[in-house]
Parts: sequence; C-alpha cells; structure tokens
Amino acid sequence: MLKLDTTSIKTGTIVLDMDDVLAFTTSYWFKLIYDRLDVFEPVINKNMIPDDYEYNKDIYYPMERPTYYFADWLLKNNLTTDEELFGRKCIMDIFISNNNIYDYISPAPIIPSIIDMFNNKSFKFDKICIVTRSFDEHYLSKTAFIKRNFASIIDNVEILFTDIDEKKSDVIKNIEHVSLIIDDELSNIYDYIDNSTNIEGSTILIPRTGYNQDISKEYLKKANDKKISVNYYSYN
Ligand SMILES: [Mg+2]
Repeated sequence: MLKLDTTSIKTGTIVLDMDDVLAFTTSYWFKLIYDRLDVFEPVINKNMIPDDYEYNKDIYYPMERPTYYFADWLLKNNLTTDEELFGRKCIMDIFISNNNIYDYISPAPIIPSIIDMFNNKSFKFDKICIVTRSFDEHYLSKTAFIKRNFASIIDNVEILFTDIDEKKSDVIKNIEHVSLIIDDELSNIYDYIDNSTNIEGSTILIPRTGYNQDISKEYLKKANDKKISVNYYSYN
C-alpha cells in the first residue's frame, strides 16, 4: 500500500481529482493511440513512442512527459496548421468516443491508502468528494469506476462532475471543511490556492510526474501564508 505522510492532516473532507490520480487515464489513452499507430503515424512524433508499449507494464511512462497537455507532447513539431488541428482532433476523438474507457483503466495504488485513511478513526474525515472534469460520454463509465473501487465506503463518496472549462475552486467552495486535496495538475493547485477560501490549514498532495515537478515558488509562498501544506508523493 502507498505510504502517505498524514501527520499534519486535519479533520474535514477529502477532495480528490480522478484522472491520473485515482485512475491511470492518460496511460490508457496512450495505449489507444499506440494500438492505432496506422492512423496516428502522420502526425505523431515517433520519438515519444516506445518500441513496445504495454499499458499495465509501462503504466508510468506517459506521466513522465514534460508538458501537461498530452497532444502538445505527442504531436510532431513541424505540422501545418491543418495537420495540427487534425492531429489534435484525432487524439481527443479516440479518448472521448470510447464511452466505456474507465471499465479498462487501472485504479492507482493510492485508492486503498485513501480508504484506509478514511476508515482510520483518529482522522475523523467527514466525506470524500471526487471532483472530476468530464465529457458527457464518460459519465457512466467514470461513475462505475468509482463505485467499483470505493465500494466499501461508497456511501461516504460524493462525485462532483465539472465542465471541461470550469474552475474546480468554484466546485469545492461549498464544502465546509476541506482537509486534504489530491490533484496532479498544477493549474488546479494554483486555482485552489488563489480562489478557495475554505482550504486554509489543509494539505495538498501531488503525485510526482514529469509535468508537475516545477511548482512555482510564488505559489508555495502563497500556500504557506494560508497554512496550506503542499507535498509530493510517488505513484509507485
Ligand atoms: Mg488529473
């Protein structure tokens, strides 16, 4: 089980991102592209494609990419505008059109650690809110993933779907006491620190990836001023 530093976590609600925190989503998305290289070959930078990628064996590989946006990393550099638009559309389409994608995506090892922590009476957590940006096509499969993987405590788990361009701070602002936030995307972390008035004294945990290592010193200071502790953990 993944070990988390829980010494400073206070009472309240746990707020969790889903993609690439609870579920190895991008890795499976990469597999879908890898399986159709015949389609993607004209627009994909071959340097990013290993000779043999296996989703379950190489699950961390796509997370080691240096830029958050998946298409920015995957696409060739010298594409025309039309080729780039085509490439971005193909990359999004293969993700969105797979309605049942979360039926095949592996759960991250942090899930049993979170359940264990939630059940630990000394913490007195109120509930778990999974706040996840979603395409309509994935609602059913995402919900089933959460029900399956949080089955033992599902009555204490609330799922808050947000629109693709909605700020997560707007979604969590009505939670009374936020105690712990786990998210992999720095822009979300900065949004929480800037705009959430209900996270003072909380802990933010970030799974360490290639694209989120360089957290801004300015934001670490802002977090410190609000008594928010920010720490990384390793996926494996
Ligand atoms: Mg995420």
